[in-house]
Amino acid sequence: MRTLLVAIAIISALAWASPGWIRWADHDDEGYSRFVIELPLGTSYKTSSSTAVLRVDTGLENQRQETFKPDNKAVERIEVTPASGGTRINFYLQPGASLKKTFVLEGPAGRFRLVVDFLNPKDDGSKAQPSKPKPQIPVVVLDPGHGGPDPGTVGFVVEKQVTLDLARRVEALLQNAGIKVFLTRDGDYDLAPKNVSDLMQRKRIDLAKRARMTNGNRNLFVSIHVNSAERPARGVEVYYLGKTLDSRVLSLAIAENGGGDLGVQLTKETTSTAEQALADLIAQGNLQFSRHLAQVILKDVTGKTGALSRGVHSAPFYVLRYARIPAVLVEVGFANHPVEGKQLARSDYRQRLAEGIAAGILEVLGNGAFATAGKQR
Ligand SMILES: [Zn+2]
Repeated sequence: MRTLLVAIAIISALAWASPGWIRWADHDDEGYSRFVIELPLGTSYKTSSSTAVLRVDTGLENQRQETFKPDNKAVERIEVTPASGGTRINFYLQPGASLKKTFVLEGPAGRFRLVVDFLNPKDDGSKAQPSKPKPQIPVVVLDPGHGGPDPGTVGFVVEKQVTLDLARRVEALLQNAGIKVFLTRDGDYDLAPKNVSDLMQRKRIDLAKRARMTNGNRNLFVSIHVNSAERPARGVEVYYLGKTLDSRVLSLAIAENGGGDLGVQLTKETTSTAEQALADLIAQGNLQFSRHLAQVILKDVTGKTGALSRGVHSAPFYVLRYARIPAVLVEVGFANHPVEGKQLARSDYRQRLAEGIAAGILEVLGNGAFATAGKQR
């Protein structure tokens, strides 16, 4: 049986037959054809498919009418048509071909890649087994908040213990779906060198190291935390990098940024980073992706757990400040709420939280495997 998880080939290694901003390559050995549409960061798009046509509506303006014949097993022709508020791209499929999946990858500076894979029509079955694909597996960084000398918030549960347990659960779910996972910590420790004795100094180094892990050859970054409130409050909230005018959110950011003078200082630095990002087109594009990731994770976590949704917000979290990939911080619930705090102590509740986070990540990575994997468990 064909597994739903076909590894993602390395885009740059493909031999493109390129008419410009739409490119394609055959993966005939693996039974599919890949089309890549390169778009400026921030361009909106949506796809809708019928058996014969895949339509991609983009916010891309000023494209001229064009028809491409890709000489390809899956797609007979591609028509680019100016449409109201953007450009429409119609893929007319060959008989027997079908849409496999779509997902988004980082592009060169200022651009991203919308990737569309089509299943080629089946041959008569005489073909040998497909050769082993050369995969570029998506890499997700999970950041269990706090650790070592910093317990995080303490209520009915201890934050550093909950975040690590959740990260390990999410890791297992993602690995089942074929995703590579990197944990910023995999035990009860922080990331500062042993010889640093000052706790605030340790915290600063620890946060800076985590923040650096939002760069490089990785696809997504998710930091996991537990909330607390002076007055009883409950629910899930998801953050991406930005400024805030909300004093409650600001206090939360200061607390998560180390608290005290350090927290205030790092929050100030991060606010200025966020201001720069909002003035920078490329960074803006990444913030939009991060916001999208935050929305999807919030939807999936509240869907799996029934927890109250407290919404998606932007805030100056230091750990998100250098992010060059979609990066969010999830506050999974309130440690000191009499109901939610006790739920957070329960294994079955944590499992549902983890399933929600993993489902959101997989949804954004454009991988439909999670639903199937979940049913088979
Ligand atoms: Zn925290």
